[in-house]
Amino acid sequence: MSVEKNIKVSVLGATGMVGQNCLRLLKNHPWFQVIDVAASQRSSGKTYKDAVEGKWHMETDIPHDVSNLIVRNVHDFDSIPDDVTCVFSALDLNEKEETRNFEFGYAQKGYAVISTSSANRQTDDVPMIIPEINADHTDVIPFQQKNRDLPSSGFVAVKPNCSIQSYVVVLEALKQAGFPVDRAQVTTLQALSGAGYKALSNLALQDNVVPYIAGEEEKTEKEPLKIFGNVTEDGIIQATNLNINAVCTRVPVVDGHTAVVHIGFLDEVPSLDEFKSILSSFTLEPQLLNLPSALNRPIIVLDDNARPQPKLDRNSGEGMAISVGRIAEDTFFDFRFIGLSHNTVRGASGGAILMAELLTEKGFIS
Ligand code: NAP
Repeated sequence: MSVEKNIKVSVLGATGMVGQNCLRLLKNHPWFQVIDVAASQRSSGKTYKDAVEGKWHMETDIPHDVSNLIVRNVHDFDSIPDDVTCVFSALDLNEKEETRNFEFGYAQKGYAVISTSSANRQTDDVPMIIPEINADHTDVIPFQQKNRDLPSSGFVAVKPNCSIQSYVVVLEALKQAGFPVDRAQVTTLQALSGAGYKALSNLALQDNVVPYIAGEEEKTEKEPLKIFGNVTEDGIIQATNLNINAVCTRVPVVDGHTAVVHIGFLDEVPSLDEFKSILSSFTLEPQLLNLPSALNRPIIVLDDNARPQPKLDRNSGEGMAISVGRIAEDTFFDFRFIGLSHNTVRGASGGAILMAELLTEKGFIS
């Protein structure tokens, strides 16, 4: 049972797909309270409800406490309320360099920055965390603060790309059970919302499959290596014992990224029954189980051959579960399976909130 806390937070990029989901998930959160929202100059100065008029995509209403907040321009650091200590950054700026500097700009002012952007994911001293896998990567934060001369409350932590969420926890579960995977062929079928709110109304993406998403295959192949890497004083050293080859496609699904995954094991190969039981019994370390957004069983194994499906399975575990089906031995690799996770929840806002809860539990956010 988690104890109530009262940490005041700001959501940057609050008007976008990830920002909206952040606000939805933070409504009534026992630890975090949203008291500030920020977006581009287009939205700033308006009430939040006016800024998202015609583009609020959540099935629930705009949270009452947020509806009348005046949207701040994210570039205006000085107008952020004094009692905010943590910012959730769900921005999509044009230039990665601009985003990198921007996130460290907030950290320099003493804010804990929890980001869903890709800009700092490959920055060596920035942890990229999936709590089920690499909660220990928070250990790099004191080195980040020292190397960059940040105040003791300021740092940047990021969550990884939404494309990898449907399979990396599965690889971790297998590794922990003594069956490390050393090669994976991944084909993703990624939802429209993964490309931001403008993609939902883009007619070119309807009734279509686009066989390329710029930059996505590189992220899908590289980001797991950092997550499975080790912390040193100089930053995180990436794992070298796993090869991933990825093909990423955009499909006309609103929410929920699917991944068709073929894997080969380094040594021993589990039986089909062992494989399924390892996944369905996988759980978080006991000390992390009291995080409000943590699931006792993050992986759901489905035996129905027609599952997982985005429409039926994306909201499992409030959008935080990874649904896995079609587990079978494979002719070319050892095994194959199909994974599915909610891209804007587990893959973005929910994953970021879970990471912020971990950082709070470890004393980095107060
Ligand atoms: P989005 O729907 O396009 O929203 C972008 C947000 O950024 C909006 O609040 C927008 O404000 C703001 N913004 C855009 N240009 C800006 C500028 N020049 N200056 C200041 N603010 C600006 O994007 P999203 O899908 O929510 O993605 C947000 C971030 O999360 C991105 O970095 C994305 O790569 C990452 N991400 C997304 C997903 C996903 O599934 N969608 C998953 C993982 C990570 P206005 O409304 O005022 O324009």
